[in-house]
Amino acid sequence: MIPITRIVIDEKMRAHVLEVLDSGHIAQGPKVAEFEDRCSEMAGTRSAVAVNSGTAALVLALRALEIGPGDEVITSPFTFAATLNAILETGATARFGDIDDSYNLDMDSVESLVGDNTRALLPVHLYGRAADMDAAATLAERHGLALVEDAAQAHFATTPGGDRVGSFGLGCFSFYATKNLMCGEGGVVTVNDPELEQRMRILRNQGMLRRYEYEEPGYNLRLTDLAAALAIPQFDQAESMISARHRNAARLATGLRDIPGLVLPNRREHPGHVWHQYTVSLNSEAAIDRVTLAAVLDQQGIGYGFYYPRAVYDYNCYRSHPGVVVDGSPRAEVAAANVISIPVHHHLTEAEVERIVYVVRGAFGV
Ligand SMILES: *Cc1c(COP(=O)(O)O)cnc(C)c1O
Repeated sequence: MIPITRIVIDEKMRAHVLEVLDSGHIAQGPKVAEFEDRCSEMAGTRSAVAVNSGTAALVLALRALEIGPGDEVITSPFTFAATLNAILETGATARFGDIDDSYNLDMDSVESLVGDNTRALLPVHLYGRAADMDAAATLAERHGLALVEDAAQAHFATTPGGDRVGSFGLGCFSFYATKNLMCGEGGVVTVNDPELEQRMRILRNQGMLRRYEYEEPGYNLRLTDLAAALAIPQFDQAESMISARHRNAARLATGLRDIPGLVLPNRREHPGHVWHQYTVSLNSEAAIDRVTLAAVLDQQGIGYGFYYPRAVYDYNCYRSHPGVVVDGSPRAEVAAANVISIPVHHHLTEAEVERIVYVVRGAFGV
């Protein structure tokens, strides 16, 4: 079996967690502070506020910006439900642009959605590839919008210009078990603005600045030292993790080229991609559809995923939700119907990558 993600807990991670267990300080403490330092270093921001999930990071960022009922947030229609759930949790209204060839939000599709109530632009760095942040920053500046980045899949990713993901606005990362860096459940918001940082620290901890002094109603979004300890050693290993993913993506690209109807991700234009997923798309020229490909992969013990099987708004619970406005995102709907992600993770062996190529080519009969 070649799974789509492989979770490996190495000796360093084990040792870090055991150290915390022995210390007796298992809730939020010094390891969380160290984790925050590593995260701000990663994104190149002044600071970072750790929380207990990527979803919590998104909610906290939006709440810190005082986004709520009556406000609109524009995001990508091609994302995990957490992005949308976080917007709805604040009481704000979600609107969607469309995507481009990279599966990320096409900033040209956003402009016409901006109105008097628009407060924030929330691009998603899908599959580990940075959204067009230069265009996003220009748009945000022009219309006075806040920028919140869903960087759940994009630790250490950079834009083509070399800027770090999570450094443009409030950068929301997830450390869920299957992400490139992980600690089971966890998240962080990277931030430059000291006031927003302070507000997030207060909201994270029941609205308290000092013990039993409540500034406003808050949450408990605290991360634990146990989880932080699991994540910390991974920052030192990030470079080799990412280069392994690059190598695998390059091998897949070479092995899978020239298959009619199989559209591979564009690698050359985007060196800062961190390959959380390697996602291909099957167009009308393909000899098979993705369900057939998936069946072959299943049979051969190769993991895959449909990320994501529908546009995020395309479910009854969202279509009927008063906080969801659907303007139509036809390219996202086509992508959702035709994409399939295959293993690219850093624990793959060369032989496993070869086997993936062999099985996919076989499924297409080439
Ligand atoms: C994983 C993910 C999230 C949510 O992160 P959790 O830690 O699972 O709450 C949000 N957005 C995207 C794009 C994700 O992939």
